[in-house]
Amino acid sequence: MSEINYNSRKIAYLTFDDGPSDNTVKILQLLDFYKVRATFFVIGDVPNRHLSLYNEILKKGHGIGMHTFTHDYSTMYASLANFKADLERLENILMRYIGFIPSIYRFPGGSSNKMSTRYGGINLMEKLKKEIEKRGYKYFDWDVDCGDTKSYLVSADQIIENVLNNTMNKEKAIILLHDSPVKTTTVQALPEIIIGLKRQGFEFKILS
Ligand SMILES: [Zn+2]
Repeated sequence: MSEINYNSRKIAYLTFDDGPSDNTVKILQLLDFYKVRATFFVIGDVPNRHLSLYNEILKKGHGIGMHTFTHDYSTMYASLANFKADLERLENILMRYIGFIPSIYRFPGGSSNKMSTRYGGINLMEKLKKEIEKRGYKYFDWDVDCGDTKSYLVSADQIIENVLNNTMNKEKAIILLHDSPVKTTTVQALPEIIIGLKRQGFEFKILS
């Protein structure tokens, strides 16, 4: 018997960059509570007490992706060699703490960022994209920016509005959020974002 599927299959991918941090712990609890899954693009330069969180993310059923070790644009985007060195530091950390190297990647600032031009010249990003693909990574940018890096602390209301206004007419939305230590209002905004996306008919998936 065939069933008619009325589900429009709108898919939201919540992505959290720049963690893990204490905010990641709170975010994992919220994701558990609302039973949704997300993807974390992690950095490597975190305090020792947060190193167990890479595994915690996976244990809770979320996705983990590579971001950068230092997140320092002036060094990692200065040359291909520097970029590779930064990447390999993160690969080593993840190998040690989760036992494998994730297959997905996000460029700090996105794959068409301007910072790399400033530090590494106009052709650097093309080289880096080739390098990432050569290593077998699939890289992801985003469709919707929650805007939580527009200033030091953006209000939770503004973050909610930035997301929900921009997802409204989309069928698929990769949503950029941050779980770095200072982004406490992003955590505060998360319940309303999840509820709002569900109301807009979205299902949640992890990137792969
Ligand atoms: Zn980042």
